[in-house]
Amino acid sequence: MLKVEALNAGYGDVQILWDLALEIETGSITALIGANGVGKTTFLRTLAGAIQPYSGTILFDGEDITGLPQTWRAKHGIMMVPEGRQLYSGLTVEDNLMMGAYTRRDRSRIRRDLDWVYGILPVLKERRRQLAGTLSGGEAQMCAVARGLMADPKVLLLDELSLGLAPVIVDGLIRVLLEIHENREISILLVDQDVQIALELASKGYVFVNGRVEMSGASEELLKNTEIQRAYLGI
Ligand code: ATP
Repeated sequence: MLKVEALNAGYGDVQILWDLALEIETGSITALIGANGVGKTTFLRTLAGAIQPYSGTILFDGEDITGLPQTWRAKHGIMMVPEGRQLYSGLTVEDNLMMGAYTRRDRSRIRRDLDWVYGILPVLKERRRQLAGTLSGGEAQMCAVARGLMADPKVLLLDELSLGLAPVIVDGLIRVLLEIHENREISILLVDQDVQIALELASKGYVFVNGRVEMSGASEELLKNTEIQRAYLGI
């Protein structure tokens, strides 16, 4: 689905990502783990097309999309749910959701997807006329995920899903993710400071250290790895 080769990227003169290689298989959940500031968000933004890399290749279904803009990527199914949610606070929940579908023209399918999203996240249906700026943290995160889904994505790039949310809310979001994953075959790249959650959800994980892939493998293997346990799981 997505394949990254020899990717170097950063901000101006400050290089953050170094020679990254990574692969996301169709319909899989992949976790990206690493300490604060190692470049996880920068990587997601590079995949979404918000940052142009210095060099390297991003392949999407075998096609080289490295130079293509964010709007093209959104239209073709690469969608980022940013950290901090970044909703349009002065718009209603439903208007925010419809913003997710801004590159789509298939009105009947947009309507069907809105009903689907309201079905899996009924709290958003209840609050559809409420301004997004007045939502609780958990509701706002649900709205951000739902807005991403309204793009009819093939790959969802989820940045810090559980940050600042109560465990019961996180459980609800996980249930939704699993439902999406099972019903829609959407591939998910998940960044989460809760490494346990990220690796339990994902089938594969990549560990970033200082903008490089330090380790990768099956999640169950990473969960058993003593270095990972010590560095990220407090075991
Ligand atoms: P966190 O878990 O804390 O969000 P992260 O692994 O997602 O961290 P990034 O947000 O990608 O890390 O940040 C990587 C580095 O890039 C940091 O040192 C950060 O200060 C720097 N950085 C992020 N955005 C910019 C920017 N717009 N301009 C310059 N440097 C930036």
